[in-house]
Amino acid sequence: MARFEVLILGSSSALPAYGRHPSAQLVNLHENLFLIDCGEGTQSRLAEFGCKMHRIRAVFISHLHGDHYFGLPGLLTSLNLLGRTGPLDVFCPEGLEPLMDEILRLGQGELQYKIQWHTLVAGGKKKIFEDRVMEVFSFPLAHRITTFGFMFCEKPGMRKLRPEKIAGRAISYETLKKLKAGIDVVEESGPTYLFSEFTEDLPSPRKYAYCSDTLPLHGLVSIIREADLLYHESTYMEEHLEKAGLNYHSTASQAGAMAASAKVKKLIVGHFSSRYKLLDELLAEARAVFPNSELALEGKKFEVGG
Ligand SMILES: [Zn+2]
Ligand SMILES: [Zn+2]
Repeated sequence: MARFEVLILGSSSALPAYGRHPSAQLVNLHENLFLIDCGEGTQSRLAEFGCKMHRIRAVFISHLHGDHYFGLPGLLTSLNLLGRTGPLDVFCPEGLEPLMDEILRLGQGELQYKIQWHTLVAGGKKKIFEDRVMEVFSFPLAHRITTFGFMFCEKPGMRKLRPEKIAGRAISYETLKKLKAGIDVVEESGPTYLFSEFTEDLPSPRKYAYCSDTLPLHGLVSIIREADLLYHESTYMEEHLEKAGLNYHSTASQAGAMAASAKVKKLIVGHFSSRYKLLDELLAEARAVFPNSELALEGKKFEVGG
């Protein structure tokens, strides 16, 4: 099966603590690399984990709290030093483009590649990126400032022909193409070809949902429903429930409840508060509600649908 995985680069909330760094993740979908959030030091994490920074196709920034984008100026200039010439797409809330322009202007260094800025728009689930193999959607979260979640979805691929069914038959190329696309064919000359008979079923397309800083939001359930993998922030534990609410964050237990309501396959919890040195209890809290939960430990790779 084609690769679809998420590498955790940063898992801390605002303050770096206990070797944990601010938010960043690298998604590999069919060998296309996408960066989600870019907290301070993200390029160092990329180097540390042996990632090819110059291969990043697009960057998705969830919101403009510094722990989610302070690593971006460094990354953009490093890509220039690495000789990038192809365009880079950056999806972000309003305000980041003029800020980055100013930072780059003050440094008087002109980039040799073009940044294609895409301002995210509030108001429901929106398709923001699409190519032959995938689609990316943004959706609003409930945080102190405008914040977006992202959903990475694989497109259904072409079905595989069953060689034993095809052998010895004079089936035209056009008919084979339709069968692979999941279309039944009735030929004028008589024979009927059912795609279910002549091709193998494909595994379902996989989905990864990223929900950074947010209160638990009931409206998310329908958007992230049955995702193969869900990242949901869990800044706090239930003992700090009130603090979580005041700061527009979630607890591990609330993240677990969200995963259970949305019937996702696996949950990753992250964006840990610096008040927790050890994370075992936080994980236990998420697992008490949703057993298939894991910690977003830096350097750990999660296979989507694995
Ligand atoms: Zn944050
Ligand atoms: Zn935030």
